[in-house]
Amino acid sequence: MKPKLFIPGPTHVDQAILDAMAQYPIGHRTADYRELQSKVVTGIKKLLYTEQSVLISTSSATGLMEAGVRNLSKQRVANFICGAFSQRQADITRICGLDQDDFQVEWGQATTAEQVETALSTGDYDLITVVFNETSTGVMNPLGEIGEVVKKYPNVLLMVDAVSGMLGAPIKVDEWGIDMVLASVQKAWALPPGFAVMSLSDRALERSRSIPEAQKGFYFDFVRMHKAGEKSQTTVTPSIAHLYALAVQLDRINAEGLDNRFARHHAMAVKVREWGQKQFGLFASPGFESDTLTCFRNEADIDLIALVEKMKNRDYLISGGYGDLKGKTFRLAHMGDLQIADINDVLSVLDEVIKEL
Ligand SMILES: *Cc1c(COP(=O)(O)O)cnc(C)c1O
Repeated sequence: MKPKLFIPGPTHVDQAILDAMAQYPIGHRTADYRELQSKVVTGIKKLLYTEQSVLISTSSATGLMEAGVRNLSKQRVANFICGAFSQRQADITRICGLDQDDFQVEWGQATTAEQVETALSTGDYDLITVVFNETSTGVMNPLGEIGEVVKKYPNVLLMVDAVSGMLGAPIKVDEWGIDMVLASVQKAWALPPGFAVMSLSDRALERSRSIPEAQKGFYFDFVRMHKAGEKSQTTVTPSIAHLYALAVQLDRINAEGLDNRFARHHAMAVKVREWGQKQFGLFASPGFESDTLTCFRNEADIDLIALVEKMKNRDYLISGGYGDLKGKTFRLAHMGDLQIADINDVLSVLDEVIKEL
């Protein structure tokens, strides 16, 4: 396990997960497989506080970001952008040829409920996209508040990219009125990359039924995916290794307790913020700091490329800035199966390395 991963994806993977993935595959049209998928889907529903549908996808999260806009809009999409990943969602919408408008805030700021309300009051939109945790800036958007606003507009669906936030902080799908929330498993799920999960509300499924197949394509057609899912099946051959890993990870999460898992993430985040706040400054605006990763400014004006390199030489992988923030910020992930002891460890090594710069 070298270097150990403190980057916001892929994240550190425990040996129990790697062992689970090394099991011999089963046929994906067998009763044993259906039992496995059923266990995994039921487990995910609980973690997302939903009684509606959960679908699984052998793809990275970006596949579902594309699928979401293609399945859920027939009028106009409002994309809310607060960093590089929410920008990617807007780019995807445009590339798919859908009608859209983009609503930007300065990087480091959050997308707010007021901003969403102003956009929706025009009546122009039938889908909005929001990122829960903007991985490029370390901002966690106020999803519950945004959900409350969207509820006032019955024709508008709420689609959420929660790739780097899911399982690091609560996402109350049904209570907050989220129609689709997606994540890949190589972030706070702490599995190797190559698989993604999503929730789908009943009304989102209805919307997808009304969209022409030519807009949705085959692989990511939610109606097809849902129909197979009803029988604890997938439309295509899934990554069975990931299902083994998810089954084990769900047991481990339930053993820890979901609330304890969230509390552990918060405690790690507080520790990291306290460590670097004075020296470097936080990039996220106050009150919207992420519980799964921290993005530091470089107020100390140190050589960030040398910092990342020297950490790597000591077997710790941390991240420089992403996108437009390259060279201006650095990021530390504190999510998944990392423990407080790991955070203490990486912070003390950071202290040593910074003295050497
Ligand atoms: C990592 C990330 C993505 C991309 O996920 P892939 O699994 O690489 O497709 C999208 N959005 C956010 C917020 C991310 O952190």
